[in-house]
Amino acid sequence: MRKKIVAGNWKMNLLKEEAIELTSEIVKLLQTETSNADQLLIAPPFVYLSSVIGVIKNEKRISVAAQNCADKNAGAYTGEVSAAMLKSIGVTTVIIGHSERRAYYNETDAMLAEKVKLAVATNLQPIFCCGETLSQRESNTHFEVIKEQLANGLFQLNAIDFAKAIIAYEPVWAIGTGVTASPQQAQEMHAYIRKLIAEKYDSDISNSTSILYGGSCNEKNAKELFALPDVDGGLIGGASLKAQSFVSIIKSF
Ligand code: PEP
Repeated sequence: MRKKIVAGNWKMNLLKEEAIELTSEIVKLLQTETSNADQLLIAPPFVYLSSVIGVIKNEKRISVAAQNCADKNAGAYTGEVSAAMLKSIGVTTVIIGHSERRAYYNETDAMLAEKVKLAVATNLQPIFCCGETLSQRESNTHFEVIKEQLANGLFQLNAIDFAKAIIAYEPVWAIGTGVTASPQQAQEMHAYIRKLIAEKYDSDISNSTSILYGGSCNEKNAKELFALPDVDGGLIGGASLKAQSFVSIIKSF
């Protein structure tokens, strides 16, 4: 059965005390709020992972994700952090292929395929991001773009490993812009992704894969988006930096 998931991507924000405070506030609010979400994740910057893990250690409903991992296993790669290192400190999940990493750090599909492979080999759950730019959507190539990103970055996994992955559809034009994909646009692309999974693997795997929407998702639009038949939750950027907003989004389930 596919899971309903809400994940907060803090990106490169907050200082240490702020990160701890935000986590504590989220934990506190969740004690009195109900939600049908099956899995909650927060993805702080690398340097706060251990502190955040410390704060949530008694909170069964939340786990901690990293925002990235290296495409190499170990060795002379200054500045990189491996999937195995993340696993060793208690991280459960890793975001791979966020459009900011693709755009600003030139991450290619081939690099992402390596990261995905290393993550699953280490028992880290990958959240594989895909999404088209505005010009790709305007030139009506968005379906082709998503198909290629999945084929080249994620579909190299065998069925058993693929079943561990989460997909996040994040149209680049919606990230941090305040412009959200319409429910029709989101549902259409999520259904298309599910069809691609069924073609590559099978319909059971396709039906049990969680596909999250990301891109200016907030407490006002989350309920409508999460109610769509092929949307299984959200990857939340800006709105995950305020405990109240993030928990309101979680309550949309
Ligand atoms: C993101 O960066 O994954 C994201 C969805 O950002 P925002 O919610 O701010 O658009």
